[in-house]
Parts: sequence; structure tokens; C-alpha cells
Amino acid sequence: MIYLDAAATAPAKREVLEEMWPLLTSTFGNPSSHHTYGEAAATELARARARIAALLGCRAGEIVFTSGGTEANNLALKGLALAAPRGRHIVASAIEHPSVLEVLDYLRSFHGFRITTLPVSSTGVVSPSALAAALEESTTLCTVMYANNEVGTVQDLAALAGVCRAAGVPFHSDAVQAAGWLPLGVDGLGVTALSVSGHKLGTPKGTGVLYLRAGTPCEPVLHGGGQERGRRSGTENVAGAVGLARALELAQGALPGTAVTAAGARAAFISTVLDGVPGAILTGDADRRLPNLASFCFPGVSGEAVLLELERRGIVCSSGSACAAGSTEPSPVLLALGLDEETASTAVRLSWTSDTGSDELASAAAAVVASVRAVRSLGAAYPCVGATGP
Ligand code: PLP
Repeated sequence: MIYLDAAATAPAKREVLEEMWPLLTSTFGNPSSHHTYGEAAATELARARARIAALLGCRAGEIVFTSGGTEANNLALKGLALAAPRGRHIVASAIEHPSVLEVLDYLRSFHGFRITTLPVSSTGVVSPSALAAALEESTTLCTVMYANNEVGTVQDLAALAGVCRAAGVPFHSDAVQAAGWLPLGVDGLGVTALSVSGHKLGTPKGTGVLYLRAGTPCEPVLHGGGQERGRRSGTENVAGAVGLARALELAQGALPGTAVTAAGARAAFISTVLDGVPGAILTGDADRRLPNLASFCFPGVSGEAVLLELERRGIVCSSGSACAAGSTEPSPVLLALGLDEETASTAVRLSWTSDTGSDELASAAAAVVASVRAVRSLGAAYPCVGATGP
């Protein structure tokens, strides 16, 4: 099998697990405990925090450990919005992850916030001038993801954040898909808050970080023992924090080399598919895109059918559509890019890690071509088999 669903999750890395092991077996104390075990764990937690802060170019106190990207997004959006509601107005792009969109819906329904949704171009790009036009005197917060999880489009974050900074509006970005491939220096990006998740980078699932610029008021979402300086109660996942530090070091330390290599493999992948499948559409931006993600629509062919055929041929990837009670819901992201529902329901997303071999990618691209041809020749209506890729 060739696993091409790294945007959903990636296998844990050996180096990460090895570094986590002592934290689970010998230095396993609760970092809040006032004895030798607790203090040793607290020291390790502080080291992990400092390592991550060094990678993000921020202070250790600006790092909040969370259980993953969803929690980091929840904390950023609820925390910033509820701490400083100004005029209860939030600006967000139309292609955010559900862990942002659903929070915005919650803030609208239960706290009376108004949400302005920023449209994107046909390739998924948010325009800084559209953002500038959407900001109001009363805007509390703006959120735009760094790189999209379905089509891979990368935003000009520094430009978007600059618009917000000039208007005095805090700017959050979901960097969950970007963290393995793009620079994370928070000053260069100009963000107020940034979400990262470990399991896309090679940690076990359930680790994450929210960068929160010093001095930014933030209402906690989890209340309890007051850990993380009161910003996130709950005993810290010390091993997870250390694993995340290591995974981020591995990913960020290998940049830009890995990104360049992956982008080369991606270009070859995309041209094999576009050349081999008449009418195939590359979704997302051709240039401003994650190096490890290729996403397509194959008009006239169900994406789920292609997925089944690919799995039969040993390739595992994801569709771009949500499946509910036997009916296929087209992806809101693809609709926001201007695709019609029928075309959106033909989406297929393939994504890989820096450990995926170029030979694996070449045979997967050939398998995509063969699978679409096979499904087309059958004219088959396959049943809907899966849910939207995370
Ligand atoms: N944001 C984006 C862009 C994602 O792709 C994901 C996961 O798929 C998340 C947030 C949620 O992260 P986690 O799975 O760590 O909760």
C-alpha cells in the first residue's frame, strides 16, 4: 500500500517516539507536583516550550500547549473574541477548516457575533484588499488559514496580517497544514495567534500548540487547575510537548530543502495526472500551494469511485466530499472556489510526507490516471464510502 493521505494524518516518527519514551516511563511526573518527579517533568516541559518558541521566533511564555489543532483553533477564536469583543464582528475566509467555521458559528449563535466571510479566488487565494474592505471599526478578530487542507493553496499571510495590524485587529492563522512545509517565524508572518498540530508532523495524535502574542487578552476555554498560565487548564501532555518540539525541529530544520524536493515531485505528479486524464482539473493554486498536496476534480467521474479503484490498486488517499447518510455533500471549500456541485463531487486529494519516495509518487500518479480511465470506462456509479478528509 502507498499511503497518500498525510494531510489527514502522518505516521509517528521514530525519533519523535524515542524522545517521548523517557517522559512516559521515567520522567513521568505531573509537572504541577512539588516533588522530584514533578519538577523533573516541569523542567522537560519548559525545555519543550523553549525549543518550540525558538522555532517560531517567539518567547516561551507565548506558547500554549493544547490537545491539537482543533483545540488551538477553539482557544484562539473563542479566547480572543470573548476576551475583547469590541463590536462583535469577525472576519474569516470562506475556506477555513471546520474547527474554525464551527467555532465561528458558535460565536454567532451563542454570543451574537457577526461573521463576514471573505471570498476566495478560483484558486483559493484571499486578497489583502478584500480583507481591508471587510474590516470595520468594530472588528474583533480576523482568521485566515496559512495553507488549505483540501486544495493546498498557501496564502500571503504576511500581507493579510499586515492589513489587520494596520487596523489594530488581531490576526489568527490556522497553520496546521503549513507547519511541516512553510516557515513559521511569527514576526515575519505578523500573526497575533497561530495554531499548529503535531500529528500531521509525526507525533502521536493529540498534541498541539497555540502561539499567542504576549499581551493579547485571551479567555480560557478549559477551566480547572490553571496550567499554561491559566490559559489552558489540564495536566500537560509532557511527552506530547517534547514530541512536538522534536517533530517541529525535524520539519522546520529540513526546510527549505524538503519543500523544494517535494515541490519537484508534486509538479511531476500533477503533470502526469493532467496529461493522462483528459478534462482533469487541478484544484487550488498552481504555484502558491503546499509542496506535498495534489488535488483534482475529474468531471463525470465520482471521486468516491476513483478512491475505491485506487485503493484496489494499493493507493490510499482521500476524497474532497462529505458523505452523510448515503448522499455525497460537495465540499464547501470547492464550492467557494466556484466549482459547481457536480464537479466538486468528483474531487480526489493526494498528500504525502517528506519520507514518501519519488518512485511511490510516480506509481501513484500512474495509478490515478489508470483508475480514472477504468472508472470512466465502466461508467460506474459507486456507492459513497467515506467522509471528508480532515
Ligand atoms: N486545521 C486544519 C487545516 C486541519 O487540516 C486540521 C486537521 O485535519 C485541523 C485544523 C485539526 O487538527 P487536529 O486534528 O489536530 O485537531
